[in-house]
Amino acid sequence: RKKIAVMTSGGDSPGMNAVVRAVVRMGIHMDCDVFAVYEGYEGLVRGGNYIKQMGWEDVRGYLSEGGTLIGTARCMAFYERPGRMTAAKNMVLNGIDALIICGGDGSLTGADKFRAEWPSLLEELVSKGELQQSQIEPYKHLNIVGLVGSIDNDLSGTDATIGAYSALARICEMVDYIEATASSHSRAFVIEVMGRHCGWLALMAAVATGADFLFIPEKPREDNWREEMCQVIKQHREMGKRKTIVIIAEGALDKHGEKVTPTMVKDLLADKDGLGLDTRITTLGHVQRGGTAVAYDRMLGTLQGVEAVKAVLEATPETETCFIAITENKIARKPLMAAVKETKEVASLIEQQRFNEAMALRDTEFSD
Ligand code: ADP
Repeated sequence: RKKIAVMTSGGDSPGMNAVVRAVVRMGIHMDCDVFAVYEGYEGLVRGGNYIKQMGWEDVRGYLSEGGTLIGTARCMAFYERPGRMTAAKNMVLNGIDALIICGGDGSLTGADKFRAEWPSLLEELVSKGELQQSQIEPYKHLNIVGLVGSIDNDLSGTDATIGAYSALARICEMVDYIEATASSHSRAFVIEVMGRHCGWLALMAAVATGADFLFIPEKPREDNWREEMCQVIKQHREMGKRKTIVIIAEGALDKHGEKVTPTMVKDLLADKDGLGLDTRITTLGHVQRGGTAVAYDRMLGTLQGVEAVKAVLEATPETETCFIAITENKIARKPLMAAVKETKEVASLIEQQRFNEAMALRDTEFSD
């Protein structure tokens, strides 16, 4: 019987439990033994009780639970070859040579590295006398399939990552709560939302809540953003709006690569010589990550989990490592490392663009 393992790694996101449930049940349906690796790569390195065989009933109730019930962790040991070697040994001892990982781009990069190194890790384990040649014989190749679990929606090649729509729903709900009190007191709120280097959550939340102004990393405001923001908000107030909502992505930067902070925005809105608004800052923080998954993420995790099992069973030693995406509403297998590379290229392009603008500005300043 084929043995496959499922793991959640990196930052948790709503919908990861749907993935684990789908992989366990689809795996069993396909006549496999399915194992859960607890606490991400840390569990793979520690072995023992961290790797448990899962039965059909073990994932009962998983769909309606937030976070990840099999745990996740950051694992320093897995960044180094000796850590990955111990992980490989634990997998062979359990007879597992297929791994489905739900995590962010870091976790998926680590997975691909592990797959590439696998044959040499096993050879070294034999040469060190930790495993017998006969023990590694059936497990010459490691099959890996990735699923993208991230609230930030920050991976190229897929329209949605598992957890993003849940976080977005949570943000909208929180903004609605804030709006009620903002309206009552005629206040302004500067709301910081998560997303790391990606502005998707902030942008979609701003559209969905009708925010007055927005800051995201991908499209820095022009240098006159202060005047622009005050002008827009003044106009909205003159039209009778009793509340002001400014959404700011945690990674928001100005055109010169400097961070735009909630305090900067608040001070401007509260400035007695300007709008003079009674202004508060709300950092939504981890409520955005917690809570149960919305229907979309349960559906996405389930469909992608099922596809991941099919992909891992169909993979051959020649197959490129894939991840499961959703594009134009279709579940699709895509090359993993190409997507990770494109994600990094987009990020560095944004950085580079800012760098060029900063250099150009510096040059004009010097020539003045
Ligand atoms: P995410 O998966 O959410 O991007 P991290 O980047 O923290 O989160 O990655 C989670 C874990 O994946 C790390 O703690 C580490 O164990 C493993 N990992 C990440 N990047 C690599 C890498 N380049 N090589 C090996 N392991 C990695």
